[in-house]
Amino acid sequence: MEDQAINQRVVIIGAGAAGLTAAEALKHKGYQHVTILEKADRAGGKCSSVEIEGCIYELGAGIIAKNNKSVFRLAKKYNVRIKPVEFGRTVLIDPADGKPFPKQRLEEKRSLLKQVLLTYRTLVRQHKDIAKPGLVHVDPELCIPFSDWAKQHNIELLANELAAFFTGFGYGYFNDIPAAYVLKYYSWDTIKSFIKRQLYTFPDGIQHLWTAVAKEHDIRYNVTINSIKRDEGVTITTDTEQLQFDKLIITSPLDEAIEFMNATAQERELFSKILYIDYRTIACSVQGLPETSGYVPANYSSDRAGHPVFWYHRHSGTGVYTFYVLGDWKMSDDEVVDNVTDLVEKMGGTLTRVHTIEHWKYFPHVTPDTMKEGYFDTLESMQGAQHTYYAGELLNFSTVGLTSEYAEQVVKKHF
Ligand SMILES: Cc1cc2nc3c(=O)[nH]c(=O)nc-3n(C[C@H](O)[C@H](O)[C@H](O)COP(=O)(O)OP(=O)(O)OC[C@H]3O[C@@H](n4cnc5c(N)ncnc54)[C@H](O)[C@@H]3O)c2cc1C
Repeated sequence: MEDQAINQRVVIIGAGAAGLTAAEALKHKGYQHVTILEKADRAGGKCSSVEIEGCIYELGAGIIAKNNKSVFRLAKKYNVRIKPVEFGRTVLIDPADGKPFPKQRLEEKRSLLKQVLLTYRTLVRQHKDIAKPGLVHVDPELCIPFSDWAKQHNIELLANELAAFFTGFGYGYFNDIPAAYVLKYYSWDTIKSFIKRQLYTFPDGIQHLWTAVAKEHDIRYNVTINSIKRDEGVTITTDTEQLQFDKLIITSPLDEAIEFMNATAQERELFSKILYIDYRTIACSVQGLPETSGYVPANYSSDRAGHPVFWYHRHSGTGVYTFYVLGDWKMSDDEVVDNVTDLVEKMGGTLTRVHTIEHWKYFPHVTPDTMKEGYFDTLESMQGAQHTYYAGELLNFSTVGLTSEYAEQVVKKHF
């Protein structure tokens, strides 16, 4: 039986962290006929590294935490360099005048520490299952917006602090996003990694990791899928050929997959409920700014959409900064660049050149109510039906580590 399984032909849609981790896990199990279909001309998906003026910058994911074990394992296997993040100076800026906020008072720091070490640690222990891969059996208590949950537990000061690496990193606003996502992202292991500054980056760019992994697999780039038909097996028609498989793993956006797949009514209903965040990365040259990275907490609400929430200065001695903006899908990139220019000027600098803008359809997620209705229990119960398995960031959370962890689990459990 085991032998028969490894002879099955498996197709994976998408060569991002999820697809390539799944391919690796299948290879590890001995599967010999695994094909990855990727619509872009490169591997990595939201791990997207570019060279600007001789240095590598990240337009998508850039940092992993110490507890992202599957990613470390792959980097080791493929000899890809990882190094601790060099934390330059980080500031919190008021966008009204571009000036840094005053440092926290001692009293405030004490309350914050108490909220993290006592209250939050106790709460994450109570909800320890949320740290397991996937989002099944989520406690209904966590299916309310995180801002309400934080208020209920008197950790609003901590919530303000957590927003920097959550809203600032593109995961939306705390008054929309279910608490379950926030607890999954801020697991106790992750909190420890942040406190101890055990965060890592890829000197050659994180995309390099996935390029290295992809080289070891049967991967087809620039593929346009016209249809996926699932009946006795899986038939995929692309622009150039028709392919037959026994099993299908989808890691690309599921709401888009229903456009070309013979989707069931249940798939259509579930996938139409997926929401995304409009997140944009603007890499630009700036003169006259100190070499800092920073957060703009006043922009962490929907009425400030289009304004930068975070910027990152990766290489000292250069004038290249990446700015991150939560948009509203409607505004143009020009408007967003105007807002970045305005912030830079308020901080005393001049934006001299925009190198590139990446516009992401980011963080697939569902509303608190949809989550409460058991969305992920239903999705999980569908794994394997019609020879189909779902992986990808929606199923766990949008970080490289959590996405890879879930993809690995799908293979361990179902193949
Ligand atoms: C700006 C930004 C910053 C981030 N920062 C971090 C960070 O610091 N740390 C961290 O851990 N995570 C970070 N993330 C999140 C992380 O990058 C993602 O959660 C993760 O890479 C998602 O992997 P995935 O494989 O599920 O999806 P994706 O990376 O989106 O991969 C899906 C793949 O499917 C392909 N595809 C889509 N449609 C089709 C189709 N029809 N046919 C074939 N192929 C298709 C796509 O081209 C893509 O290659 C960041 C993301 C962004 C955008």
